Amino acid sequence: MRPALLILMLLYLLPAGAQPRQLLVPGGIAVIELGSDDPAEYRFRGKPVLVTKIAGVPSALVGLPLSLKPGEHYIEARASDKIHKKFFEVGGKKYTTQHITITDDRKVNPYASDMERILAEKARKQKARNHYSKGAVDVDFLSPVSGVRSGSFGRRRVFNGQPRRPHSGMDIAAATGTPIVNPSAGTVIELGDFFFSGNLVYIDHGQGLISMFAHLSEIDVKLGERVVKGQVVGKVGATGRVTGPHLHWSLGLNGTWIDPALFIE
Ligand SMILES: [Zn+2]
Repeated sequence: MRPALLILMLLYLLPAGAQPRQLLVPGGIAVIELGSDDPAEYRFRGKPVLVTKIAGVPSALVGLPLSLKPGEHYIEARASDKIHKKFFEVGGKKYTTQHITITDDRKVNPYASDMERILAEKARKQKARNHYSKGAVDVDFLSPVSGVRSGSFGRRRVFNGQPRRPHSGMDIAAATGTPIVNPSAGTVIELGDFFFSGNLVYIDHGQGLISMFAHLSEIDVKLGERVVKGQVVGKVGATGRVTGPHLHWSLGLNGTWIDPALFIE
């Protein structure tokens, strides 16, 4: 069977996607309607914001960092020496704390000899998260795997008794070897075997919308490859800092991680 046909068949078997939903809290997204007199390019804290049609209406999708202070915020654009601003109100959200025990303590307290590798990977991850390319974006996402979603995005985490960064994505429980499908068309911008994330893949969906898949048992794409929606990008695994096999999926918007649940349901 031709691969294209197989992908089409797979698409029919997958749960249907949905349009992104607004959630005005840190870690959420703002969906701001744009009129015909609005400039084409808005920025939020200096970063270009994704513009697309939501239910037929041109809209800006703004990723709200977990560190954002509740209150009034705005996107802005400069057009013919006039500054356009659009305001929105961000509420508060209390994220719970999760205590996790990691058997391999080196993944919590790395050796001094691990630090060079960890810092180099951190720089690559930061670059990938802030990647920006122009063009149309398909925001009607597929769920990358079906399975029980933990809903743990934003949770403060304590590994082996030590506080670490909040959880930057969604964990979906699935067996090792389960295929991970690409939720929306894009390009592979980073991949490899990383200290904490294990085998990972970054996909640029366009205009600052970035998927990151971690802890894979197998990577099935190449750096720079164009990947269609529904294409298998790798397999679920338990590589890196994990307690068991699952898919970790992070979703970035204008350089910040947001709750991927807002893009699927
Ligand atoms: Zn995770």
